Amino acid sequence: MLNISLVASLSDKVLLEQCVAYGRTALLWRNKFRALLPEVEKRKLYRKKGYRDMYEFGERLAGLSMAQVAESLNIAQRLEDKPVLKGLLESGEVSVNKIVRVMSIATVANESELAEKIQLLSKNALEVFVRDVKLSQESALESLPGQTLAEETFSFLQEDVNELGLKGEVIQRLGDLKAKGIDVNEALLEFLNQREQELAETKDQIATQLPKSSSRYIPTRVKNIIKQEHGNQCAATRCQKPSENIHHTRRFGNIPSHDPNFMAPLCREHHQIAHAIDIKVAEMRIRK
Ligand SMILES: [Zn+2]
Ligand SMILES: [Zn+2]
Repeated sequence: MLNISLVASLSDKVLLEQCVAYGRTALLWRNKFRALLPEVEKRKLYRKKGYRDMYEFGERLAGLSMAQVAESLNIAQRLEDKPVLKGLLESGEVSVNKIVRVMSIATVANESELAEKIQLLSKNALEVFVRDVKLSQESALESLPGQTLAEETFSFLQEDVNELGLKGEVIQRLGDLKAKGIDVNEALLEFLNQREQELAETKDQIATQLPKSSSRYIPTRVKNIIKQEHGNQCAATRCQKPSENIHHTRRFGNIPSHDPNFMAPLCREHHQIAHAIDIKVAEMRIRK
């Protein structure tokens, strides 16, 4: 049979489609192969078949690097007591890299939930999700009895007060207040509380005046008030990333409203996480 090259005659579109399709298949099968390695090692199958070690076995049969073989053996060991994640690994449908990312927070109790997250989230979003879980665990530890709120706040301010970049005029005016015997902290708190209250009132006012339309276009007034409240940053707790999407915290499909009380600017990763949680909630509703 004659094989005549056809690749050169493909259009760009078809060429790219084939790259995507074959690439996906190649990754799937390589993941499946990697998931077999721990069993091969356990049975010493490589030795019986004349391979020097597991590395040579992986390299010659599937072109794996030493690091990839080592990682496959290592992850399998850590999944010994986690059958759901192990099943996900063996399915080949997610990369070993993604499973590795959740291992630091994986427990027997949460492995099913994590398996779901791994399938829903991109690698970056997964990383952010894991970091959030760790941070919330840490702050749970921090707020153990014995430590007062004042202490926490104080240590926070010591580190960050210089980063505020207060201008000379601001410092001077605060100094003047202090010289008059006025409590500067009290005055600032009063200002901050007032600002928050004003924002809340404006948001409610905007909400009552919104046109009753189901257009996805977010009115400028709404965008502005959200910006005043959150600045340029993602609204997720402790996230430092710039916001990229304004997210409806109530599903827009269910309640088509741009009420700013139910909107938050999020970075790409937290936006994906928010929707992943939303998908889960929707599934739970269906299951009921
Ligand atoms: Zn959204
Ligand atoms: Zn974020």
